Amino acid sequence: MSQYDFDLFVIGGGSGGVRCARIAAGHGARVGVAEERFWGGTCVNVGCVPKKIMVHAAEYGQWAREAPAFGWTGMRAGEHDWPALVAARDAEVRRLSGIYDRLLGNAGAQAFNARATFIDPHTLDVGGRRVTAGRIVIAVGGRPIRPEIPGCELGLVSDDLFELKELPRQITVVGSGYIALEFACLLRGLGSEVDLVYRQALPLRGMDGELREAMAEALTSQGIRLHPGETLARLERVGDGVALTTGSGRTLPSGQVIFATGRVPHTEGLGLERAGITPGRSGCVPVTVQQATEQPHIFAVGDVTDQLNLTPVATAVGHALADTLFGNKPRVASFLNVPTAVFTSPPAAMVGLTEEVAAQEGPVEIYSARFTPMRHTISKQPRKTFMKLVVSARTRRVLGAHMLGEDAAEIMQGIAVAIVAGATKEDFDSTIGIHPTAAEEFVTLR
Ligand code: FAD
Ligand code: NDP
Repeated sequence: MSQYDFDLFVIGGGSGGVRCARIAAGHGARVGVAEERFWGGTCVNVGCVPKKIMVHAAEYGQWAREAPAFGWTGMRAGEHDWPALVAARDAEVRRLSGIYDRLLGNAGAQAFNARATFIDPHTLDVGGRRVTAGRIVIAVGGRPIRPEIPGCELGLVSDDLFELKELPRQITVVGSGYIALEFACLLRGLGSEVDLVYRQALPLRGMDGELREAMAEALTSQGIRLHPGETLARLERVGDGVALTTGSGRTLPSGQVIFATGRVPHTEGLGLERAGITPGRSGCVPVTVQQATEQPHIFAVGDVTDQLNLTPVATAVGHALADTLFGNKPRVASFLNVPTAVFTSPPAAMVGLTEEVAAQEGPVEIYSARFTPMRHTISKQPRKTFMKLVVSARTRRVLGAHMLGEDAAEIMQGIAVAIVAGATKEDFDSTIGIHPTAAEEFVTLR
């Protein structure tokens, strides 16, 4: 009999933690898992899921506006019913969160609705109860942060979007990463006036340069007012709203302000020092390739490690760790060629290297296209599609694919399989297209 209460204790019931706990329990380990706020974590409760439902809501408005061009009479976008959307969204979130909880029980893991903190490297305080474990996985995720400027407490963060009682008439979105762009687009799509303030010349720093240009155009064409190259000075109450003044002295229209200025690992108060773990940048838990911390029996997965902060990465890593520790199947999840999408309107998606990064590693050939998709030749909406392949001139392997346009995320999942498998440009060329689609451009780019 083990000297510990559990073979494995997982702190955090989000994407990474639940997967790790569930798989480890399935391998026969005695598993405990603690969640202090909501089963399913950020993704299910205040991230991917409720966000995507709101993106869908905005899309229906767009389709209703386009419908008359296709002969539909009497179809209008009309007024959006915010409480109806909130009710439908929250019901789905509750359903999924319940599934996460039940999955743990079905797998035989013991779930604790409580906060867990370290007492020592093998002992945790779980809602006031002392619990010991042979191995511990830290899967506490991250939380949104506000920039430290005067009045910052007047601004919302991403969690607050899901608590709003009504659609903001006017909103200033700060930042130009994933969350800023997705929120700007969905709120604009539902009818808000949106100002987007960011400090770079183009949104989505780190992504492909041409895709960033195409994104800026797409945002402008939906009526989002872009304010590039701006730093932040202060937030103040103006009338019944809040207004942002930028470093250049411009005060934006008063309404709501939402910061989408990044997230930090949720390790404050976790007692890492009592576990003998030194936090890294912004409080993250540094890990080896095998996800081990400086204590060989304590591991970390997901956003708390601040590597690639995406749900499928957290679940893949949590799964691989459980297989390694308890399934006699040692393996690590690959962080190479991870596809990703920004659910803007239209969405952007990418996998592999940008042109800029690939060009630093060797000579590249670029194949790209920009066109009006069939739907918008009829709808007359100024919505273009952009597609690009980055190819190694030496090996002919496709190193990166980038797209902005309808269905980009759905298309990129398949392209990612080809790139992970090492497809060359000739493999793309010899693949027959599906006609008429936008996706067929990826196999006809010359
Ligand atoms: P989390 O899901 O954050 O789970 C951590 C859990 O630990 C939380 O439930 C927390 O309450 C709990 N916890 C923290 N401390 C303790 C403690 N001491 N004791 C007990 N419990 C604790 N990713 C995508 O791939 N696609 C998307 O479309 C996408 N959209 C997003 C949209 C938004 C607005 C946000 C904020 C994120 C989005 N993400 C998306 C990122 C994705 O949500 C995260 O990468 C993912 O949730 C990380 O999983 P995790 O298990 O590491 O952490
Ligand atoms: P990001 O790191 O993607 O973007 C942060 C943005 O905030 C950047 O534009 C950054 O500007 C800006 N910023 C940071 N500090 C300041 C400041 N002091 N003043 C002004 N601007 C500032 O973070 P997000 O919060 O958008 O998202 C967090 C993570 O969640 C993402 O990186 C992603 O991993 C994940 N996510 C994934 C989604 C998806 O898969 N669809 C959707 C949403 C989130 P600059 O570029 O100049 O540094």
